[in-house]
Amino acid sequence: MEKTLSIIKPDGVKKNVIGEVIKRFEANDIKIAAMKMVHLTRTQAEGFYAVHKERPFFKSLTEFMSSGPIVVMVLKGNDVIAKNRKLMGATNFKEAEEGTIRKDFATDIEKNVVHGSDAPETAAFEIGYFFNSFEITG
Ligand code: ATP
Ligand code: MG
Repeated sequence: MEKTLSIIKPDGVKKNVIGEVIKRFEANDIKIAAMKMVHLTRTQAEGFYAVHKERPFFKSLTEFMSSGPIVVMVLKGNDVIAKNRKLMGATNFKEAEEGTIRKDFATDIEKNVVHGSDAPETAAFEIGYFFNSFEITG
C-alpha cells in the first residue's frame, strides 16, 4: 500500500480545521499510519522545503511554516499520493475545485492549509524527515 506525508499547516491549526481535514481523509478510505503535532524551527522548515530554496517565496514560506504548530501525518491507502492531492485541491485556492480542502479553507496562495507529497520519491524523503520506522504503524 502507498504512503504519503500530509501536513496541516499553521493556518489550518489556527483556523481549527484539524478535525475537518482528518474527517475528509477518513471519509475517503485513507488510513492514518502516524500522526504528531510539532512546531518547526526556521531551519527545520528550510530543510523540509529545500527543493524551493531558489524560489522568490522561500523566505516567506519557511517563516510561515515555522510560525506555529503543525500536524504531520503519514497517510496510507491505494493511490494515496494522488488521492490526497485531489482532496487538497490546487496550490492556489482560487483555482481549486469545489469541495477541496483548499477551496473550502484556504485564504492565501501561501497559507493554503495543507501540504501533500507529490510523488513516491518526495513522499519517502518527507516521511523520513518527520518519522522513524518505529513511529509508523502497518
Ligand atoms: P505543498 O508542497 O505545500 O503541498 P504544492 O505542492 O501544491 O504545495 P508547491 O509548488 O510545492 O505547491 O509550493 C509549496 C508551497 O509554497 C505551497 O503550498 C504554498 O504554500 C507556497 N507557494 C507556492 N507557490 C507560491 C507563490 N507563487 N507565492 C507564494 N507562495 C507560494
Ligand atoms: Mg509541493
